[in-house]
Amino acid sequence: MKKVLFIFLGLLSLTSLAQKKPALVVGIVVDQMRYEYLYKYYDRYSDKGFKRLMKEGINCTDNHYNYAPTVTAAGHASVYTGSVPAIHGIVENDWIDVASGKKVYCVDDSTVQTVGSKSKAGMMSPRNLFTSTITDQLKMAQNYKSKTIAISLKDRGSIIPGGHTADASYWYDSADGYWISSTFYMKELPTWVQKFNLEGRPQKYLNQGWNTLYPIATYTRSEEDDSPFEGKIGDEKTPTFPHDLKGKNMLEGFRKTPYGNSLLKEFALKALDEEKLGKNGTTDFLALSFSSTDYVGHAFGPQSIEIEDTYLRLDKDISEILDYLDAKIGKNQYLVFLTADHAVADNQHYLKSKRMPGGTFETEKAVSEAKEALRKEFGDVNLIVGVENNQIYLNHANMDRLRISKEVVGKILEKTFKSQPGVAEFINMREVGLSPIPAIYREILTNGYNQARSGDFMYLLRPQWVSGYKTGASHSTVYAYDTHVPLLFFGWNVKPREISVRTNISDISSTLANWLKISEPTGSIGKVIQ
Ligand SMILES: [Zn+2]
Repeated sequence: MKKVLFIFLGLLSLTSLAQKKPALVVGIVVDQMRYEYLYKYYDRYSDKGFKRLMKEGINCTDNHYNYAPTVTAAGHASVYTGSVPAIHGIVENDWIDVASGKKVYCVDDSTVQTVGSKSKAGMMSPRNLFTSTITDQLKMAQNYKSKTIAISLKDRGSIIPGGHTADASYWYDSADGYWISSTFYMKELPTWVQKFNLEGRPQKYLNQGWNTLYPIATYTRSEEDDSPFEGKIGDEKTPTFPHDLKGKNMLEGFRKTPYGNSLLKEFALKALDEEKLGKNGTTDFLALSFSSTDYVGHAFGPQSIEIEDTYLRLDKDISEILDYLDAKIGKNQYLVFLTADHAVADNQHYLKSKRMPGGTFETEKAVSEAKEALRKEFGDVNLIVGVENNQIYLNHANMDRLRISKEVVGKILEKTFKSQPGVAEFINMREVGLSPIPAIYREILTNGYNQARSGDFMYLLRPQWVSGYKTGASHSTVYAYDTHVPLLFFGWNVKPREISVRTNISDISSTLANWLKISEPTGSIGKVIQ
């Protein structure tokens, strides 16, 4: 009898304990989402998607990235580690490893194999990430009894959020339109994933073509459809609706349609069911990253009907996810946060057409002129390993051998780069603190600098000076148009509130750690949002 009572009390305390934590945390990253998009399309959204998160949740209206380059890999790493590239090491999507001089892709891992297809797209893992993630900490705090599943069309959008301890990270392989993973996580795909892949959903979407969700005349917040500032999908002739999506290699082109987000939603709902997320008696974590917003944004730019339509459709996908979570997990039993991995610039030619400042930076010309100036001074020795993200990586081996000082090389480079149109300042990355730029940019660049993976010097471009992108748009800078992103918390433990004091992206993981009563990730520098 005593024993029975004991077990009963034990169960009772377990259930009351369980109520103190959410059954599930759902992290949503919307790739390339500007803060402004919450409001620009506000009255076009349904009541159950973005608007519901804004009205019933905590809306941090001045949430920024606090480092540059502002790009996908660094963004996801910073959301989930509560840190910055200086510490977590993911300085860009691609960088040059300073020690070897070799180019590295953020999640490359030659020691693992693809799981789920014959392509090489699965030779990926989180091994380049120097710190733990909030998903790792949550798992560790529960003695690895909980589940973490991460999903994104992009490998880096899935692998980094899942951290080092994910049960599975899945990403999209354009070779056959499958969700794949790597041997870092598993030997073979679960049966439910294999089945899902064989349904050929991407092709079914492509067969539909892409027309606007509502009559095109209602898209009054966007520029005209046939714009010289927009790119195209596949081999279509004009950047206009309806996009027929019948060109070559369209399983890749699929990414540049809002259907990429819808496919992710379908796969996520399936994962919720099949993995019984939120039903395992612990706090599980589902990390989602919607990438098609970024692909569409790069191709068509933020002023396009395409991007407006993509957000209106994403709003529906998000409302479906929330409805599903309400039904399966229960209202207020799960916690959602939504943010972006970076925002985006405008197309510089579009801005010029509106008499706004901006321009095209001729990277190749600038780099070849810099190399020529070095050749004139030192002869035919290779002193530049590469240029990535506006950063110049020097060839230290050659400089040591020939006893050429970094200072002298820096002076020559500074002179040539400063003579190029669009250059605001030339910066020695190890001495950012001494640069004559506003303190906030000094902090942003210092946070983004990692001695093992960043360049020696950087040319800082003026706002809206962009390399390439004759059409469409880009991101990566220190400027607010790239750093200002949404941040919404919703559900478990959340009372509606608007917070307009500045928050940083690194505060997300600290806040989650505080609410969940677990340790922060190992490189955390964030503050708990009050
Ligand atoms: Zn991008």
